[in-house]
Amino acid sequence: MEEEKERIPIYRAVTGETLEVERCRLSEDEWRERLSPEAFRIARQGGTEAPFTGRYHDCHENGIYRCICCGTDLFSSDAKFDSGTGWPSFTAPVSALNLKMRIDRTFGMIRTEVLCARCDAHLGHVFDDGPPPTSRRFCINSASLRFVHGGRGREG
Ligand SMILES: [Zn+2]
Repeated sequence: MEEEKERIPIYRAVTGETLEVERCRLSEDEWRERLSPEAFRIARQGGTEAPFTGRYHDCHENGIYRCICCGTDLFSSDAKFDSGTGWPSFTAPVSALNLKMRIDRTFGMIRTEVLCARCDAHLGHVFDDGPPPTSRRFCINSASLRFVHGGRGREG
């Protein structure tokens, strides 16, 4: 049996610190209870929301996008851009620590799936056709995110 590390470093966008936190592990039933049916289908079962239907594809406010499941800071509005795809799109996460990548071979494509490092929530995919400076396009489901205003130098 392979043992996964239970404590992982996570970057906090609010304070700029990296802290060791416990991984967030719940059973499928526990997630189902906590999340909306849409968030459960997407974040816990690898689903995808229909384009232009999510809460955040057209959101231009300043703040931080957190994991809907565990609250980990994932993306900043500073890295958000309008990709025209109908999904919230970012050039970079707040920190590479907070994401996990995995090769996804479903639907006859080879794509890189993006997951929350702390709770393994499915977030979306990353492509290499984004704008400068990273040329990356993190294509993320609104349903996997929870937006909070501000997020830097505000909360304690
Ligand atoms: Zn998470």
